[in-house]
Amino acid sequence: MNYRHDYHAGNFADVVKHVVLARVLTYMKQKPRPFRVIDTHAGAGRYDLSGLEPGKTGEWQDGIGRLFDAELPGPVADLMAPYLDVVRAANDPGQLRYYPGSPVIARQLMRFEDVLVANELQGQDFERLKGEFRRSKTTTVLNIDAWHAVKSLLPPKERRGLVLIDPPFESREEFDNLATAVAEATRRFATGTYLIWYPLKHEVAADRFVAAVTAQSELEFLDVRLSVCAAFAGLGLTAAGVLVLNPPYVLREELEAILPLLSETLAEGAGHGYLLRNAVLER
Ligand code: SAM
Repeated sequence: MNYRHDYHAGNFADVVKHVVLARVLTYMKQKPRPFRVIDTHAGAGRYDLSGLEPGKTGEWQDGIGRLFDAELPGPVADLMAPYLDVVRAANDPGQLRYYPGSPVIARQLMRFEDVLVANELQGQDFERLKGEFRRSKTTTVLNIDAWHAVKSLLPPKERRGLVLIDPPFESREEFDNLATAVAEATRRFATGTYLIWYPLKHEVAADRFVAAVTAQSELEFLDVRLSVCAAFAGLGLTAAGVLVLNPPYVLREELEAILPLLSETLAEGAGHGYLLRNAVLER
């Protein structure tokens, strides 16, 4: 396991994932019944953008670095506020030094009665995560294999919840592992909302993954993709997707407003754009 999220925290792919996460949680909070968030690959929780690793890649500068200072029109600013307010709350006024990861964003957007389970396998990141939540009474931090977590933690006792699955995609088998895990998870907890992040390096492989997951679970879904420029050999990640199973009914409309602006703000070259769909593309 070599992956360290410190190199990538706050990049365009993190921004897309966290914007969707914030919108889903904002919706879930509108109903009084408590819910649970299970973050299977939680990372360290908070990242110092002035540190060595983020400095080496500089990826955050073209992600949250651009969005933090962007002038957004009123309706989009309102939709982005839950996410951007959490980023601001992690920093001194007007400064951008720290980037909150998914468990910190989730916790900030949840209520006291909602339960967060944040899981991280890598030892050092797990220790940081544990430190982050040491005072939180309604957060459990675990150090188990995510593929075991989806089996042992589902269904949640609240019977209302969001499962965030955000693997590092280090191995070629990751799409297959992920599809198997989602099948298992949705079999145990069919009414949950699932937010699944995936890289878009090979479009055919990504399409095949989305088709497999959505066919096997037969749940409603929203597939969200954002590309910062056209991909070509040698370039790093230029596009990423978030597959939402059982999405809130308002999510599509909200993202239709957000994505054009997000795509413009994060664009790095020709071929940038976004895609939003709730039916699988026929190839
Ligand atoms: N979700 C985080 C966020 O949005 O801030 C980022 C997570 S990062 C993309 C993926 C994390 O999964 C890494 O911290 C890595 O150490 C961890 N990881 C890798 N394999 C894992 C496994 N089998 N079980 C649990 N965690 C794993």
